Amino acid sequence: MPIRLEDYTSIVGTYVIEELRLLAEKLAGKTIQTINSTAVGGGVAEILHRLVPLLSELGVQIRWDVIRGGTAFFEATKSFHNSLQGEAGQLSEDIFKVFLETTEQNLRLIEFYGDIIFVHDPQPIALVKERYKGHAHWVWRCHIDLSNPQAQVWDFLRPFVEQYDAAVFSSANFAQPLKVKQYLIAPSIDPLSDKNKELTQEFIRDFLEKYQIDPKRPIITQISRFDHFKDPIGVIKAFRQVRPNFDCQLVLAGGEATDDPEGAQVLQEVQAEAGKDKDIHLLLLPPTADLEINALQRGSTIIIQKSLREGFGLTVTEALWKGKPVIASAVGGITLQIKHNLTGILVHSIEGTAYAIKNLLTNPEYARKLGENGREHVRQHYLLTRHLKDYLLLFLAIDRGTDGIVYL
Ligand code: UDP
Repeated sequence: MPIRLEDYTSIVGTYVIEELRLLAEKLAGKTIQTINSTAVGGGVAEILHRLVPLLSELGVQIRWDVIRGGTAFFEATKSFHNSLQGEAGQLSEDIFKVFLETTEQNLRLIEFYGDIIFVHDPQPIALVKERYKGHAHWVWRCHIDLSNPQAQVWDFLRPFVEQYDAAVFSSANFAQPLKVKQYLIAPSIDPLSDKNKELTQEFIRDFLEKYQIDPKRPIITQISRFDHFKDPIGVIKAFRQVRPNFDCQLVLAGGEATDDPEGAQVLQEVQAEAGKDKDIHLLLLPPTADLEINALQRGSTIIIQKSLREGFGLTVTEALWKGKPVIASAVGGITLQIKHNLTGILVHSIEGTAYAIKNLLTNPEYARKLGENGREHVRQHYLLTRHLKDYLLLFLAIDRGTDGIVYL
């Protein structure tokens, strides 16, 4: 049965749902076109899969288009991504050429029809060239950590951003000096999706058994694409500092996003680092494995997110919502979610991660309390209903061309 808006009432209350209906009514007759670079894998696709059907149910006309590109294009955009998240080093001119050529192909392939065109991240950013042919408003939604972008790539992309009506960032830390309006909207999770809904203990046990993970010993888990910025090698090194004194297991679970060509190489490096250690489980899960990820998060004792850079870190939100103690790096949007020693533990190094793991394994009551606080923090700030409201307000503000004030 498809999930309906009213199903959220038991989690967020009636008032929140009524407010969404009221805001959506104000958008009657407007069409939103949302465009990104992958239908599966990673946080952006994850959120769109939930937001699009709910906006439709609210009566907002919305269609989701995905741009196409070959390996060279996604390698180019992956290097943009890395550079924007602060990786040093100049990129070759060929990379920019491939990017612009694929943009031209997509400009021919995509039919632009929305009143508001809502574009996610750098891959489709240059489609904004099309805006001069129509009357639509264009909004760029940036999901990545843009606090310290490499100059060459940002200098190339910024003129595209400045052709939009507005740019949206996940955190104030990422806002850059721009000539266009900027909005801050944090992402969210859907508490009723397969990824986050309640599961039976039996389902969780079966999952762990299937992957030969011992439910009786502590399970320390990081779930992430195999990507250097997620620092899976650092997680293994931290685990190795803990394991001699604590009988526990490490699970690194990841999948592949179709717009991430580096995954296979990083996975190989991780396999080499893990070696034949029976207490390190590497799980390569398909993009459809939402229930499995949910079971793994719920079955874990501690969740790690040792990212070196992070846009927001939905994996952190998902784990907090499940009441899990989370140890995560103090980077990007993670610091919005984890208040140190209150809703989780923030760390800055491999040694710090190892220390935090030992601390939580020795103090289960403290770990339980962190998890409980984390769940409440997510309920208040990072559930889908808050996100829907922010987007409706954004669309209204953009459509009405106000100075950021929406008159209802
Ligand atoms: N995810 C998944 N399978 C995996 C790894 C991650 O479904 O093997 C999901 C994860 O549960 C989360 C999203 O992908 O919902 C990752 O979002 P996040 O913001 O943590 O990182 P991103 O991949 O966007 O950098």
